Amino acid sequence: MKPKTYQGYSLHNYRQIPQVARLSAEAIEAIEVVGQVLPFKTNNYVTEELIDWSRVPDDPIFTLTFPRRGLLTARHYTQIRHLTETGAPPERLKETVDAIRLSLNPNPAGQEHNVPTLGDIRLKGVQHKYRETVLFFPSQGQTCHAYCTFCFRWPQFSGMTGYKFAMKEGDLLRSYLRLHRGVTDILFTGGDPMTMSASVLAGYIEPLLAPEFTHIRTIRIGTKALAYWPYRFLTDSDSDDLMRLFERVAAAGKNLAIQAHFNHPVELSTEAVAAAIRRIRSTGAQIRTQSPVLRHINDSPDVWAQMWRRQVDLGCIPYYMFVARDTGAKHFFEVPLERCWEIFRKAYRSVSGVCRTVRGPSMSDTPGKIQLLGVARVWGEKVFVLRFLQGRDPRWVDIPFFARYDPRATWFDQLEPAFGEEHFFFETDRAFERARHDSALTLFE
Ligand SMILES: *Cc1c(COP(=O)(O)O)cnc(C)c1O
Ligand code: SF4
Repeated sequence: MKPKTYQGYSLHNYRQIPQVARLSAEAIEAIEVVGQVLPFKTNNYVTEELIDWSRVPDDPIFTLTFPRRGLLTARHYTQIRHLTETGAPPERLKETVDAIRLSLNPNPAGQEHNVPTLGDIRLKGVQHKYRETVLFFPSQGQTCHAYCTFCFRWPQFSGMTGYKFAMKEGDLLRSYLRLHRGVTDILFTGGDPMTMSASVLAGYIEPLLAPEFTHIRTIRIGTKALAYWPYRFLTDSDSDDLMRLFERVAAAGKNLAIQAHFNHPVELSTEAVAAAIRRIRSTGAQIRTQSPVLRHINDSPDVWAQMWRRQVDLGCIPYYMFVARDTGAKHFFEVPLERCWEIFRKAYRSVSGVCRTVRGPSMSDTPGKIQLLGVARVWGEKVFVLRFLQGRDPRWVDIPFFARYDPRATWFDQLEPAFGEEHFFFETDRAFERARHDSALTLFE
């Protein structure tokens, strides 16, 4: 594979991208205005090998990394445009930008509730929500090779430091893991941990291969590098060291699972991504894939079916389809729950069983990962059928439950229990005891 040298682009230098000279005045204005509020970063692999510039601004990959007008509401857009056009003082612009950012729900699903403690210390770079899996946010991995316009991690990239989850101290993480022997999985996340050098990553991973951590069975790395910078695994200066590190995890008898984010089949179409996937798999690591359903990017069953087939062809395992989070430019990307299910169902039924390892559509909300199993009619009432794929309380997992059908709902917090019930089963102890009683009791033990 011919090496590529990474060139990042942001608000300051995107005009150096050759194709930008041919963009319309409206598209440029949108970048300048929206780019003040939402983080903007792309790179030369995305602009040269993924974006089809003849389709801009509607091209899915352009929409995925470039600011577009629709990402802000008309009112916010006009507000910012007015300030930039009239050359308002920077403090004034900053004040307005901050106010708009705060109105965009920068920290959805109460993530701060998941921060564990060790004695008196709050482990700010750790989230422990589901019994078996600890999330770790290494501080050097809190950026990405390009930023997704839909991302719920956006406060991390825009300097809203109060909302940032990050930690340097691998020591604290290891102390926590020594005390929690029920944890089997550690998931490195960010940002994108694959923006770290192989040696920094090794500093976190290698100690976990020691005999004292036999309970850690799987080391996972959540990354979008395969989609945004596959050269990370091929020709970057420390790519070979990275592959040796992956091999050492397998040699220590643990699983290394790459949780790869792919939002569109185009991201799976280049020679570089195919070579990177082959190389990662040759180390013994597995690759699982996930993405949210996003309007303007992948809101069709055909796109998902193509994506899953291509992933399986390349040796990846389709894993999750998510519902877009209630944050940032949600109004631009959101897809009603019923439509998400329809996209899932039509794609799922059109692929073979080897692609049907995927689960979704799933909402990561405060109580857990909630899957919409479908729409049904029960005794004349139209309902959503739901279940937990992951629950804050593991006993909730896989119990079917019902919400009143709502054609406009786009997120779980807009749903009401069906059949005139006051609470969902997991919301009160009494409702839980009832659900426990109504189902086969032994299932819960
Ligand atoms: C999704 C997620 C995990 C991992 O869940 P799996 O279903 O095991 O992949 C862990 N922690 C949090 C907070 C998550 O949202
Ligand atoms: S790569 Fe992941 S963390 Fe980074 S912007 Fe995209 S979705 Fe967010």
